[in-house]
Amino acid sequence: MGQETCIFCKIVNGEIPSATIYEDEFCRVILDIAPMAKGHAILLVKKHYPDLFAIDPDTASGVLCAAAKVGEAMKKALSCDGINLLQNNGPAAGQTVFHLHFHLIPRWNGDGLSLGGPQGSYAEGEAAKIAEQIRSCME
Ligand code: AMP
Ligand code: ZN
Repeated sequence: MGQETCIFCKIVNGEIPSATIYEDEFCRVILDIAPMAKGHAILLVKKHYPDLFAIDPDTASGVLCAAAKVGEAMKKALSCDGINLLQNNGPAAGQTVFHLHFHLIPRWNGDGLSLGGPQGSYAEGEAAKIAEQIRSCME
């Protein structure tokens, strides 16, 4: 999707209204319209990157600091016990809006919200082999 038609670009630019929590030079943080929990926020990176893979170091640093700052405020405001920071890349990973964003999901002890869990284990030698495969693709 091009930037002209991107819904998150429009929210970042204020063309579409949002429940904004925080804004700085790197990001705008808003409440998710279909929350997984009350207070579920999404941090929209101001630059239009389709996913994580093209992010630049300044933006990466800026948005992680912003996520920590907003997360601290969420803990106080919502009295939550924890926060999941999630970020989906590609449809296989559940990404539906192709403009880089991070989910901040407040969690309470025993809230029962399921984000999946372990789905198996490695056979003997398998973890070392996969780690080597990934290492060999690093630039
Ligand atoms: P993802 O599945 O990681 O791409 O997440 C996209 C998120 O954007 C979903 O959780 C949607 O509920 C949320 N979303 C889509 N449109 C809007 C909107 N106009 N305002 C707030 N959140 C939105
Ligand atoms: Zn965009």
